[in-house]
Amino acid sequence: MPGPVGRTRGTAGRTEVSPQSADAVVIGAGHNGLVAAAMLADAGWDVVVLEAQSEPGGAVKSAELFPGYVSDLYSAFYPLSVASPALKALHLEDHGLQWTHAPAVVGHPRFAEDDDAPVIYHEIDRTADDLERRQQGDGDRWRALFDQWLRIKDALFATLFAPFPPVRGPAQLLRELGSADALRLAHLMLLPAGVMAQRLFEGEAARLLLLGNAMHADVPIDAPGSGVMGYLLIMMAQDGGWPVPVGGAGQLTKALVNRARVGGARIECGREVDAIEVSGGRAVAVRDTGGSTVRVHRAVIADTSAPRLYGHLLPSHAVPDAVVRELKHFVWDTPVLKINYALDSPIPWRSKSLNDVGTVHVGADHDGLVRWMADLNTATVPLHPFMLFGQMSTADPSRSPIGTESAWAYTHLPRGVADDASADQLSAAVDVVLDRYAPGFSEKVIGKTIQRPSDLEASDANLHSGAVNGGTSQLYQQLIFRPAPGFGRAETSVENVYLGSAGATPGGGVHGVCGRNAAKAALAGDGARGWPRRRLTRTMMSLTTR
Ligand SMILES: Cc1cc2nc3c(=O)[nH]c(=O)nc-3n(C[C@H](O)[C@H](O)[C@H](O)COP(=O)(O)OP(=O)(O)OC[C@H]3O[C@@H](n4cnc5c(N)ncnc54)[C@H](O)[C@@H]3O)c2cc1C
Repeated sequence: MPGPVGRTRGTAGRTEVSPQSADAVVIGAGHNGLVAAAMLADAGWDVVVLEAQSEPGGAVKSAELFPGYVSDLYSAFYPLSVASPALKALHLEDHGLQWTHAPAVVGHPRFAEDDDAPVIYHEIDRTADDLERRQQGDGDRWRALFDQWLRIKDALFATLFAPFPPVRGPAQLLRELGSADALRLAHLMLLPAGVMAQRLFEGEAARLLLLGNAMHADVPIDAPGSGVMGYLLIMMAQDGGWPVPVGGAGQLTKALVNRARVGGARIECGREVDAIEVSGGRAVAVRDTGGSTVRVHRAVIADTSAPRLYGHLLPSHAVPDAVVRELKHFVWDTPVLKINYALDSPIPWRSKSLNDVGTVHVGADHDGLVRWMADLNTATVPLHPFMLFGQMSTADPSRSPIGTESAWAYTHLPRGVADDASADQLSAAVDVVLDRYAPGFSEKVIGKTIQRPSDLEASDANLHSGAVNGGTSQLYQQLIFRPAPGFGRAETSVENVYLGSAGATPGGGVHGVCGRNAAKAALAGDGARGWPRRRLTRTMMSLTTR
């Protein structure tokens, strides 16, 4: 149902012909927005994506920050992408995407002088034998955990990736495991990472591999629900590894853009949406900051943050008071500092086992993580930060000249401490830690850029102070509590507006499921056939958000 056309600024600053009306307007060309756009376009809808920045991709972008060195600006490793039904269904490999892997997946030195850091290798026997060497029985424990993972992973993903409440996944898990084991699994998934690590393994090495992986979300290792991220990432590391796109993260976005365009979706950059106009309980148009309006025939998908959608884009008359009240308590993830390095040679790790891994968890063992979290919880800029460290040329040699390394580190500041001076202070501490674990590191750095929380947010409004996951991943803001109690689905208080970003269930990470859930909900709720669903959603919303 394409509308009459007008002129607007195009993707590369060009002037393009664009519709003044569309079946669906997608606000934001992050990967979730692009997934939604592709699905709606495939269904025959006329789709326009309006993106505030000059390039699509959101937090999936790369750039040549130093001549000859490609740096991923935000996300870098994509185990969730290859596992995700939303991205698998788009067959991005047919649209230019090529995956590659580091020779080994992830490692975690136990202390600065550790010259024998534990590593997850691609081969299960190698990982298990190495863990067995360190602690009798941990090799078998690793194998048993992995065997169970292979049995349940499809059902587990179906559960975790479904809008709330999940139905098919839990039923599958019950069938596969029986009720007693399914209950035990549910219990395991709710454990704090520290407790989970102690239950699953006897030795420090295996435990630490789980703990470091749990730190990819902002849930402290002693908080309920922090274990699940660690469990998923170690199992995915063992299963398919953590792939990266050949040529940089931007290649994933490029493939998504190509794929969305196949169905006819139009992507217009440099158009920041300022308002959604609502009339009669439905979105009828969106307006950008330049004052241009696109009329909406069917649906709006917001790949924006939840606070931005409810607190700014929707008119106040369209947002129930209860939602406004709840979103005052919305909790962002801890601020992020990211540092990109160009090195003239490989990283001089003390532990040679780290030379081949894509990701290194650096700076803390179990107690160190607790102390680091204590800093973050007491507004203290850490002197001894824990960090995630990516060796991108090790993962994909095309990222920099042979024999060199394009690398990054990212770590967190305390909530509420996101100023540039604190970020710079933390950046100096990161370099000190890296020099301890890899003596001589600093001397090999020939280029370095810092992305402070303010830089991250300026380059993508969803990254509030660098928030990695669109809002905290703590249990109290997940599932039916995401983004606020009573939600847990893409549907919003306006019947044809859907939240399709990481701010919606199931949350952060490059899996595209938030965009898929939003597109599916929009398709199911559309037209006369969607009336019963719209009615049901309205009833549920009025019950849960009054
Ligand atoms: C430093 C960092 C490292 C990460 N590492 C990984 C990783 O290795 N693996 C992984 O799976 N995940 C990782 N993540 C998380 C992952 O990148 C995000 O969860 C994911 O990108 C969220 O996708 P999204 O589409 O919801 O939002 P985004 O990617 O943030 O995209 C949102 C888009 O919407 C646009 N937008 C917002 N508001 C408006 C508006 N009003 N008008 C128009 N456009 C608007 C933004 O400009 C942006 O382009 C990382 C994140 C960060 C910040």
